[in-house]
Amino acid sequence: MAICEAKRREVRRLSGEGYSQRVIAVKIGVSRVSVQNILAGKFCRTARTPPIVYPTEKVSRCPKCGALVKQPCLLCQLLERKESGDVATG
Ligand SMILES: [Zn+2]
Repeated sequence: MAICEAKRREVRRLSGEGYSQRVIAVKIGVSRVSVQNILAGKFCRTARTPPIVYPTEKVSRCPKCGALVKQPCLLCQLLERKESGDVATG
């Protein structure tokens, strides 16, 4: 289950206020390992989503966004990542 960006932000905020990882885990409702990973900046880089496949030269219509693009559609891959919260925005 994905930990949303709001939770990650909250973890960092509480950590900045001096709470221990154990307390943060209880407050937010995630495991202590998750708290550690978030604070280490590792969480969004775990490979839950497949790696981005860079397009070949073959151009065809994207079944998802309908654009005529090189497949697989890079835009749709990025959008999926954004929705699942796996893009490091910072
Ligand atoms: Zn697309």
